[in-house]
Amino acid sequence: MASSATVHRPADVEALRSIVASLDPSATVALRGTGCSYGDASLNGGGVVLDLTRLNRVRAFDPKTGIVHVEAGVTVRDLWRLSVPHGWWPPVVSGTAAPTIGGILGANIHGKNAFHAGTISNHVLRFGALLADGSRIEVDRERDPELFGAFLGSFGLLGIITDAVIRLKPVPGGRMRVSVLAPRSLGAMIADFEREKDGADYLVGWIDGFAGGSELGRGVIHKAVYAGPDDDPEATASLALERQDLPSTLFGVVPKSIMWAFLRPFLNDVGMSMINRAKDIAARREAAVGKTYLQSHAAFAFLLDYVPGWKRAYGAAGLIQYQSFVPAAAAERVHSRMIAEAKARGLTPYLLVYKRHLPERGLMTHAVDGFSMAMDFRVTESRRGPLWDLCREYDGWVAEAGGRIYFAKDATSTPENVRRMFGSEVDALAALKKRLDPHGRWRTDLARRLALG
Ligand SMILES: Cc1cc2nc3c(=O)[nH]c(=O)nc-3n(C[C@H](O)[C@H](O)[C@H](O)COP(=O)(O)OP(=O)(O)OC[C@H]3O[C@@H](n4cnc5c(N)ncnc54)[C@H](O)[C@@H]3O)c2cc1C
Repeated sequence: MASSATVHRPADVEALRSIVASLDPSATVALRGTGCSYGDASLNGGGVVLDLTRLNRVRAFDPKTGIVHVEAGVTVRDLWRLSVPHGWWPPVVSGTAAPTIGGILGANIHGKNAFHAGTISNHVLRFGALLADGSRIEVDRERDPELFGAFLGSFGLLGIITDAVIRLKPVPGGRMRVSVLAPRSLGAMIADFEREKDGADYLVGWIDGFAGGSELGRGVIHKAVYAGPDDDPEATASLALERQDLPSTLFGVVPKSIMWAFLRPFLNDVGMSMINRAKDIAARREAAVGKTYLQSHAAFAFLLDYVPGWKRAYGAAGLIQYQSFVPAAAAERVHSRMIAEAKARGLTPYLLVYKRHLPERGLMTHAVDGFSMAMDFRVTESRRGPLWDLCREYDGWVAEAGGRIYFAKDATSTPENVRRMFGSEVDALAALKKRLDPHGRWRTDLARRLALG
């Protein structure tokens, strides 16, 4: 998605304050990290966008306790590179290391460990924020749990998160032991997640959207467990940055920067069904022989960073992602129906990712006690209308099942569907916004489209 706005890039918190103070009182302002949200969450057509990536100082890091105090523009990549040599890893990360701390708190992200770690908000001790009237507040998770839970995940609509104190996760070494499961249906995948979750540090499922019939929802689960010296003789050595960094070439030859161009010819139904089938066959073989391997934290966590600019492979109109979170009891039914319906309408998603989540108390949270399925759909001029219709129908199924969508991934929803999913929380957010931002300074295209705040 795209829109035009006036962009400011303050160099530090003081510059940020003076820019905010100097803006025309009627100007609306969106906050932006690295713009990794799939939809319009950090756009503000015709208004002002504050790019916060230069607020990127590490204020403190204690390698003994793993507690770090960082500014909002520090990226997930900056954070793990700072901490991993000392045996600490960010407690929750997204599938790319590019997002900023402000962005991951603004969206309250989850990771492949959501089934035990929940969202990033569970690991934040306190954060600082700048409000629309220019005042600064410190929000502590113990002292002000309500504001804390509402602010994190409010998508830049309540104020600017300037800095945060986060508790990192200790790791016994630089690598994880990864094993492969190859469930033959969505029901089997869900059963595998439930069986494996107590013995896993990370679990992530991939689904072949082209498979149907009795194999609908078949796929692969990657399970990762932290490897200490008892399992990995190089546990300590592999904490070194050069052992974590992703290689800059594929097979030592093809530069990563042009790999998206190799993907492009496959970005159609024929190419992607071949890739999905090949991946399924390989996974089945690995699972059958019980293959396991050691992989660095960065390589496991940030798979998509292997192909920088991968979105360009989708062509000019790009892609949208639809991620729905459905309570466990209804997940197999709702998610199977979604896969089947997309296939029946000739809109098969090219990538589907499955995760287990925990319930959460935060206002407007996407997290439920259940499963999420992220579906990547190619957009073309002719697919656009049918795709938007399909996603809006999905919203209805998700709402009926007591589920939710996630605004970091949304491009298609409507105010009515959001209300069906989030109910009175929509009003609670609006009331809090009226208190903290009475003149409606913080605004995004997403908020306008979905009538939020
Ligand atoms: C390849 C890929 C993989 C991903 N994997 C995951 C995943 O596994 N789990 C997951 O949860 N998400 C995932 N995401 C989504 C991503 O983590 C979120 O969209 C995250 O918010 C992006 O951070 P950003 O810095 O790019 O923020 P932006 O996209 O620029 O902004 C995100 C939101 O936060 C607000 N915001 C930004 N900075 C601040 C601030 N300082 N104060 C207050 N609000 C602010 C913005 O207004 C906006 O509403 C993925 C995205 C990509 C592209």
